[in-house]
Formats: sequence, C-alpha cells, structure tokens
Amino acid sequence: MIISIKQHSSRAAVDEVCQRIRDFGYKIHTIEGVERVVIAAIGTGDVTACLESLEAMPQVDTALRISAPYKFVSREFKKDRTRIKLSNCEIGGGEFVMMAGPCSVESEKQIMESAEAVAAAGAQVLRGGAFKPRTSPYDFQGLEEEGLKLLRKAGDATGLAVITEVMSDRDVELVARYADILQIGARNMQNFSLLKTLGKAGRPILLKRGLSSTIKELLMSAEYVVAHGNNDVMLCERGIRTFETITRNTCDIVAVPALQELTHLPVILDPSHATGRRSLVPALSRAAVAIGADGLLLEVHPCPEKAVSDGAQSLHLPTFAAMMRDLQPYLALWKSQRQAQNASAAA
Ligand code: PEP
Ligand code: MN
Repeated sequence: MIISIKQHSSRAAVDEVCQRIRDFGYKIHTIEGVERVVIAAIGTGDVTACLESLEAMPQVDTALRISAPYKFVSREFKKDRTRIKLSNCEIGGGEFVMMAGPCSVESEKQIMESAEAVAAAGAQVLRGGAFKPRTSPYDFQGLEEEGLKLLRKAGDATGLAVITEVMSDRDVELVARYADILQIGARNMQNFSLLKTLGKAGRPILLKRGLSSTIKELLMSAEYVVAHGNNDVMLCERGIRTFETITRNTCDIVAVPALQELTHLPVILDPSHATGRRSLVPALSRAAVAIGADGLLLEVHPCPEKAVSDGAQSLHLPTFAAMMRDLQPYLALWKSQRQAQNASAAA
C-alpha cells in the first residue's frame, strides 16, 4: 500500500498513521519530502480493512493498494503455467484441449452417441450437465445422479475424461465421485461457500466467468479455490452481458490473453454460451485457437432441434467433426507458438 499524508501534518499525526499500519501487521518505509510524507506499507494482512481504517484518518490524503488483491493465482506468484493432468491429456501444457458434449445429459442414447462422435472427431473431454442452472424453475433441471452415471459410463466407454457442473456445496462430493473436472457455472462464480468447498474437492475445477463479472472478480474467485487448497483451477470466458442482443452474450475474447498475462492458470473459451448461435461457433472457435486459449468447451447434440436445453447453440455432430478438421492448420500453428513460448520461458 502507498499512503500519502496531507501537507503540513504534524509529526505526531504522521506517527499515528505509522502505528496504525504496524498494528495491521505491515512493515513501513517512509519517504519524507519537503512538503509531504509518503508511507509504503509492505507485507501481508487484511489490506481492505487497513485501507478503510487509514482512509478514515483526517491526516491521510490517499491510501492505495499497489499489489494485486489476488496472490496465489497471479503470474508474479508463479511464473510457469499451471498444467492440469487428466487421465488422457494435460490442460495448460503443450496441447490444445477440446471439451465437447451436450448442454444436458438427457438419455443413455443421447450421451453415448455424443461421446462416440466427439471422441472420433478428436476431443479429449466429454461435457454434459446433470445439475442445470435454469433461469426458469419450470425448465428441465437435469437428471442429477442418474445423469452423472450416464456421463461416466459414456466417458469410460470412449476413453474421454468428463466435465460436469456442480451447483451447490452439498453436491460437491457426489459430483466428484463421477466427474474428472467440476464445472462452476457463470451464475455461481461468486458462490463463496461453494468455492471454499472446492478447495477440498480433489478434482480440477473449471470456473466460468460470471454474467457481469470483471476479469479481476474472476481471478478473486479462483483465488478462493486455490487459497482453500486446490491448485488445479482453469478459467473460462463464456461471454458477458452487454447491450448487444444479436448474440446471447458478448464474447470478451481479449480476456483470454489478458488473463494469461495476469495468471498462470489455463484459460478456456466457451463459444456456445458466448454466442448462443451455432452458426457463429466455428468462427469463434478459430479465434480462440488463434488468440492462444488453452482449450474450448462447447456444446454439440445428436439432434439439436430436440435438445431439452441450448439446442440453438449446439452443433450437429457432423458439423463438429467438420469444424475439428477445419481447425487443424490453426491447431498446428497454436502448437508451434506454444512450444516457442514455453522454450523462451524456460530460457
Ligand atoms: C453450461 O455450460 O451449460 C452452462 C449453464 O454454462 P454457463 O454457466 O456459462 O451459463
Ligand atoms: Mn448450456
């Protein structure tokens, strides 16, 4: 923190500020100019409470935080990328990871057909929601444990890892029994009791950016999970709310490299929820590869017209296979770019 004292303050007034800062557990370094005293406070403590207390002192002109409020997830804390190992791939390392599947697990036939198609097209992870966060309480809410069982069965049958959403801290243990990655939905990004529970979930976490959350808030939520004991967190840009109505959300694509500058955690892009329209998904997927995302999370369905949720943004299975073929030259460039980055980081 940097604390600037009002001009012409007395020595006693400056000393009082210094003591207040020390009481919060910080070391101080004062810079005494002719007209003004500036204090640098160094260390760890409750920054917010300390700043509030200092701002309330009449002799304090300004009190500012200078370091990022998140620590464990920051690039300053850890220079090397976090690599998350799954049974069949590694996220955040030298390969681009494709996660695909239906919005909701609906039936054995539906999830099995989806799994076979996405595996054949070259995906590594199968998605499928068993607990669904729906805006209307009358919409399909998910098959719950039955859905988890079907998803696991489909993953095992095809050699794919599986990712599914957990909505409540009460369900973390149950979902972790079946899933390889726990997805935290946009609506739950700031469910702090859930985030704390994830610290002990024993599974990697994919944390989606909230509907109206800033990049900093997303990082703070990731910090909760890491601070509570789980280092395997990846972040997901899935579009944010703006005044635009042609797309379901507005994809903040530059959030991908912006996050990668600020954090060592892998960054995934979800082009399905970001657009809401299947016609836009291939273009945004190419953009995600080009901009250096660590992977994609997207929705496909054997028959999107009949999907119980998010049919309009779900790719037909043959379209997904075609998109995967079309992505190959971009993925080759991604790979050489990533290898060069990793080599220069190691040098
Ligand atoms: C989903 O992945 O189906 C989902 C509900 O996503 P989000 O939380 O991003 O809306
Ligand atoms: Mn969905």
